[in-house]
Amino acid sequence: MNEAEIWETLQSRVPGTTLKEGTIFQRDVLRFRSFVASELRHGRAALVGDAAHTVPPTGAKGMNLAIADVVLLARALNALLGENDARLIDGYADLASQRIWKAQNFSWWMTSMLHLQPEHNEFDRQRQLGELRSVVDSEAGRTYLAEAYTGWPID
Ligand SMILES: Cc1cc2nc3c(=O)[nH]c(=O)nc-3n(C[C@H](O)[C@H](O)[C@H](O)COP(=O)(O)OP(=O)(O)OC[C@H]3O[C@@H](n4cnc5c(N)ncnc54)[C@H](O)[C@@H]3O)c2cc1C
Repeated sequence: MNEAEIWETLQSRVPGTTLKEGTIFQRDVLRFRSFVASELRHGRAALVGDAAHTVPPTGAKGMNLAIADVVLLARALNALLGENDARLIDGYADLASQRIWKAQNFSWWMTSMLHLQPEHNEFDRQRQLGELRSVVDSEAGRTYLAEAYTGWPID
């Protein structure tokens, strides 16, 4: 994409506004990484969303995980502050972690199955295609992918 195309695309996203164009002085491919904080709760502090974990975008899980964390934490705070019941807040990190690590695994798997690495050779490429075909040719494989992609129930 050249500079003119970048401005044209950006402008098309904001109808009703005229963007003031400037020089584009840096272009980067956004770097993503997989990360889970070692503690999701410490005393009166609890982490949710990207502060607690990041996933590569291939599984489209980041926002979904953030919302699920917030639902769990809201329930826990309601119980704590409304009924003086600390069981949910004490279990928040363990419960949230189960979904987080499932999503980490799914995102990692999708990334490794769908993206070629520069160091990959012909064997890696063919093995990767074999993996993809194993999933799409199997009802069980398709079902797992659909379940994980659309997300797991919060309860
Ligand atoms: C290009 C891209 C595509 C994505 N696609 C998807 C997708 O398809 N599906 C999906 O589920 N997820 C997707 N994600 C991930 C998703 O956007 C994030 O995981 C999600 O927004 C995390 O929510 P959050 O509330 O934790 O953090 P954020 O959305 O980053 O919110 C944090 C907020 O805190 C504010 N803030 C930061 N520091 C301070 C401060 N000191 N004081 C006050 N405010 C502060 C920030 O301005 C921001 O508004 C995508 C992310 C990117 C970058």
